[in-house]
Order: sequence, then C-alpha cells, then structure tokens
Amino acid sequence: MAIGECLKEVRKRIEENCRIAGRSPDEVTLIAVSKTKPVEMLLEAYEAGARQFGENKVQELTAKIPQMPEDIKWHLIGHLQTNKVRQVIGRTTLIHSVDSIRLAKEIERESEKHNLVTDILLEVNAAREDSKFGFYLEDTEEALRQISLFPHVRVKGLMTIAPFVANAEDNRPIFRKLYEFSVDMKSKNIDNVNMTVLSMGMTGDYEVAVQEGATMVRVGTGIFGVR
Ligand SMILES: *Cc1c(COP(=O)(O)O)cnc(C)c1O
Repeated sequence: MAIGECLKEVRKRIEENCRIAGRSPDEVTLIAVSKTKPVEMLLEAYEAGARQFGENKVQELTAKIPQMPEDIKWHLIGHLQTNKVRQVIGRTTLIHSVDSIRLAKEIERESEKHNLVTDILLEVNAAREDSKFGFYLEDTEEALRQISLFPHVRVKGLMTIAPFVANAEDNRPIFRKLYEFSVDMKSKNIDNVNMTVLSMGMTGDYEVAVQEGATMVRVGTGIFGVR
C-alpha cells in the first residue's frame, strides 16, 4: 500500500477507536514516525497531509529538518543524551523522552540560553522493563515536582513505550494505568505542569491506546512499512 493510503487507514482506525471510546477524534494527534526512512518517503506522507513527524535520533532529526517543509512539527521520541540537548533546543515541538532529572536540567540550561521554553513529556517505564528508559511510575510524581521548578521547561504530560507483545490487548492494563496516573497528577495542579498529553501506542497497539486515553500515537511501520 502507498504511504498516503496507509496514512488514511491509520487515521480511519483512530477515528473508529475514538468512536468506540466515546472520544472526539480531535483529541488524538497522529505522529508519523519516520526514523530510518528517506526524505522522499517523508515528503510522500507530507503530501498526504502529515504535519507531525517523529524521529528517535538527534543526528537524523537535524539532518532531515532542513530538507523538509517548514510547517512540520518535529517530535523527538528517542532517548536523548545530555551532550546532544544543545542540538535540538528550538527545533522540536515536543521532546517525548525525558527520562532523568539530569536531562531535564540540561534542557533547562540550554533553553534559558536561547530564551526559550521547551515543551517536554516525562517518559514512564510503566511495565518496569530492564531494557527500557524512563521513570518508574512510583518515582514520576517526585520527578514532576522537581522538573516543574525549571522555568524554561514545561511538562505537558507523559509518554510510554509499552512492551512488544503479540496481542495488543496485553498492553491495555499498562495504558490504563498510565491514563489513571495522569488524571491523578492533573488533579494535583502542580504549577508549571500541564497534564494534557498522553503519548502512547505504536503500530501494534495504538488502537488499544486510543481506547484507553492516548492523545498522541506514534506510528511508524503502519505508515512507512517495515524498517
Ligand atoms: C520506532 C518508534 C515508534 C514507532 O514504532 P512502530 O512500531 O514502527 O509504529 C514509536 N515510538 C518510539 C519511541 C519509537 O522509537
């Protein structure tokens, strides 16, 4: 299937699952995850209406930005090393993968230098997998409170990468747990923290994630094909 058709199909499924869950499709942003794919393919997705793109590597992100139209919103979704923060400040619409206070502090420092406020999500290792980055759920509130004190960083919500499973239903409890946690955090009204974004769901499980309250889904394979 061509990229445009795949995109249409993913959008349709998001809408269907919103309907199932009694949500408005406007609540869910589709991020086209274009990592490892050539710019020609990204342009095809752009032609088909995609404006939000996700990359997981700083080098690839910064190489692609100048080759693509300016109205694209770029999401950094992969692990970010503190020594690379400088390269992405001012160039992303949202950094999904803040997984340590140290990294947030570096984003604060570089953002201050540029007189900017950088929007971020805290990555939560909701399933406690050894192979994954992110805060454990029980450490996330304390991290939120500490990061909320940084004036040039704005926490917009949470992100998780659910386990790789054969049956997407297996991830439903994880998505539900993160949704409930975000509602709980929202109710605490922490200054400078606005819990509106819940980035969860990939090609294999985005439909379940939408049913469970995702406001951003990150779909790569389902749009661009296998990597
Ligand atoms: C690669 C990647 C995705 C997209 O994965 P697909 O299974 O291809 O949809 C989503 N989120 C993150 C953090 C990724 O690295």
